Amino acid sequence: MIRTRFAPSPTGYLHVGGARTALFSYLYAKRHGGEFVLRIEDTDVERSTRKSEESLIDDLKWLGFEWKEGPDVGGPYGPYRQSERLEFYTSYAEKLVEGGKAYRVYAESDEIEKLREKLISNSQTPHYTREMLESLVTPEEVEKRKKEGKKPAIYFAMERKNRVLNDLVKGDVHFGSDSMGDFAILRSNGLPIYNFAVVVDDALMKITHVIRGDDHLSNTVKQIALYEALGFEIPEFAHLSTILGPDRARLSKRHGSTSVSEYKNRGYLPQAMINYLVLLGWSHPELKEIMGMEELIEKFDFDRVSKNPAVYDEKKLTWMNGQYIRKLKDDEFYTVSKAFLVPKVFPEEEYATNRKWMIAALSSVKSEIEVLTQIPEKLQVYFNVPNVNEKLRVSLEELGTFRAFKELQGAYESMDEWTPASVLKVTKQIIKETKVKGRDFYHPLREILTGTTSGPDLVSLIFLLGRENVISRLRKFLEV
Ligand code: GLU
Repeated sequence: MIRTRFAPSPTGYLHVGGARTALFSYLYAKRHGGEFVLRIEDTDVERSTRKSEESLIDDLKWLGFEWKEGPDVGGPYGPYRQSERLEFYTSYAEKLVEGGKAYRVYAESDEIEKLREKLISNSQTPHYTREMLESLVTPEEVEKRKKEGKKPAIYFAMERKNRVLNDLVKGDVHFGSDSMGDFAILRSNGLPIYNFAVVVDDALMKITHVIRGDDHLSNTVKQIALYEALGFEIPEFAHLSTILGPDRARLSKRHGSTSVSEYKNRGYLPQAMINYLVLLGWSHPELKEIMGMEELIEKFDFDRVSKNPAVYDEKKLTWMNGQYIRKLKDDEFYTVSKAFLVPKVFPEEEYATNRKWMIAALSSVKSEIEVLTQIPEKLQVYFNVPNVNEKLRVSLEELGTFRAFKELQGAYESMDEWTPASVLKVTKQIIKETKVKGRDFYHPLREILTGTTSGPDLVSLIFLLGRENVISRLRKFLEV
């Protein structure tokens, strides 16, 4: 069974790059009827927070991911928070020490730092060997430190050999035998180093495919060596290319928002985010652009994941969001709009009791918006009473069409029922009777009613403004 995981560190928000990684892991697992696991990598105690973990989980859920194994739901291979798995790391580190594949280092970090500086100043790459690390502290000093209760760090004795990673995205990646030295796996305070914890966890959680950003490629060789030393089966790896901004610099705040929750607050739909994110490195076999999660699950595979950096273009995401907004059913649109209208524009109760009007009003502006934050402004046509446009009055008088609007006001006043159909009928009748050309009528009418020249379809607009508002706006304009 295919098992993938997303393993964020709870040190900040969910970045769009992280969301793309999660998505590819998710799609691959689902495609193969496998499991997608959420693991929280919180061993950096200073920077990790529960708040960040919660917001990561919220954002992942908002995007539509579901998991049966994770810190919030438990599961057969838990716990799923690294800070709760310390005994696993200690026991596997001990095993390595017993097997002679790892060793204790009593040198303090400043002593190791000095070694590093010395190697660098001698033009050597700072690759440590057991000999070098052990020579930092004399045997007597080791004894003294032991007596004082000082705990050693544990270093992995990296076996020097050439290694080839057959990556699902990058193809064969070669690592030379001299590409690295021994490295710490457990700190003296008992906390594991990322490369070690990740291997122990991926192995114990039976992860079959490790999918992550290619900034981790150099870690992978260390991890492979650890798999070998621990006698674990090595999983498949897929390293996803970097995401760049349109200027081909690494994606940063300069290029737009980088956090998923910011997009949520800026009125983007999760469906649009998912669709846009998948195209950062993957393409549909027929190059289709608009695809929902189900179709992605059916089609996703690594053979169509590009090795080249993906270019992030917020404009395209925004365009796509507009497409998804138009795809929403009216009642879905009403539901997602709520967060952008309540309580700032309407009190909660009003939004609920006027549901029918809200749905119709929202649907009348749906084609005009690309992000949900534009909704309040677009709905203003229903609430802003425009000032009388003197220029327009003069021009209507010159044209001789002023009278037609008076007739229209009278006709609206005497209507028995106010429905879109009756509004349309009466309006057309007035045009016919007064012999005004349609274009000399509709545009000015919109301007009289709203003070703007664009907006919802005119009949919907008139109907939704309601008879009283329409008549009073007409009267205000005509009677000055
Ligand atoms: N916690 C690591 C990160 O956030 C996970 C990397 C991995 O997937 O192995 O970068």
